[in-house]
Amino acid sequence: MTTNATTVPAYAAPAAHAPLERTTVPRRAVGEHDVLIDIKYAGICHSDIHQARDGWGEGIFPMVPGHEIAGVVAEVGPGVTKHKVGDRVGVGCFVDSCRECEYCLQGLEQYCTQGMTGTYNALGKDGEPTYGGYSTHIVVDENYTLRIPEGIALDEAAPLLCAGITLYSPLAHWQTGPGKKVAIVGLGGLGHMGVKIAHALGAEVTVLSQSLKKQEDGLKLGADHYYATSDPETFTKLAGTFDLIISTVSAPLDFGAYLSLVKTDGALVNVGAPEEPVALNLFSLIGGRKTLAGSMIGGIAETQEMLDFCAAHGLGAEIEVIGADRINEAYERVIASDVRYRFVIDTSTI
Ligand SMILES: [Zn+2]
Ligand SMILES: [Zn+2]
Repeated sequence: MTTNATTVPAYAAPAAHAPLERTTVPRRAVGEHDVLIDIKYAGICHSDIHQARDGWGEGIFPMVPGHEIAGVVAEVGPGVTKHKVGDRVGVGCFVDSCRECEYCLQGLEQYCTQGMTGTYNALGKDGEPTYGGYSTHIVVDENYTLRIPEGIALDEAAPLLCAGITLYSPLAHWQTGPGKKVAIVGLGGLGHMGVKIAHALGAEVTVLSQSLKKQEDGLKLGADHYYATSDPETFTKLAGTFDLIISTVSAPLDFGAYLSLVKTDGALVNVGAPEEPVALNLFSLIGGRKTLAGSMIGGIAETQEMLDFCAAHGLGAEIEVIGADRINEAYERVIASDVRYRFVIDTSTI
């Protein structure tokens, strides 16, 4: 132990549905393999709002959301070899996992059979609640801490830790590259990173959005084509076009209609999480040997690969940096889809 446990300033929801307010939360002492991170920026993810408002049930309150964390190492435990004081680092959606199941051993910690330990709204192995990135400091095991390469500004890097990897992982898994036609459904915090990354991977990229409102943005971000899904002609025109469609929307889609846009052997992958079950006529899969799949964030190694890829291609998120006193207002704007494309909290204002 190099320091004692401490309390640090944070913004927390004191109870479900209550507005976030300034408070303090405990951080554990820096253990043998821990790093103390001086948080500089924290992105606001839609799932922060779901959880702070207890949309998924069983929330632990007070809750400090934030799993898109970028900062600088302020202190390291004596056994730490992966990071040193002054390094630019990030933390994503989880801060621990069992480390021994078949998925952890493959670097797929997000699918840990024991369940990964969420960066917030979870209980750590010590039985204490975890508190996320809307805070000035966090203590995290070095093995769950990512390196943020020079070449991405820390504020633009923060949203990569959830939004970036959520799109990178399925794009990589389904082998996106030159010659592949990829569609991204929804141009929000997740979708805009999908467009950037798929374009940088060399694919021909199409945005499928409800309207043409963000068309100019979409093309600037790297899309080759942009179609409105409110126009029924879109579905006739694009039938059988795509190797891969990634849906980022959390409203229930007409999956059959979207599957009709997929080529034989292609896939429709869902990274948004509709709360309602969906109905699907399985003939839309059988005719064309198509796959309907899901995907959730990425493991530590793949998240590092994504950060290195984004740095090499000069990719960061499109952001609006806000002070902590605007978090509640930002939540309302995210719900109203009034953000291009991610709010990032400057944690020096907490
Ligand atoms: Zn997230
Ligand atoms: Zn595991």
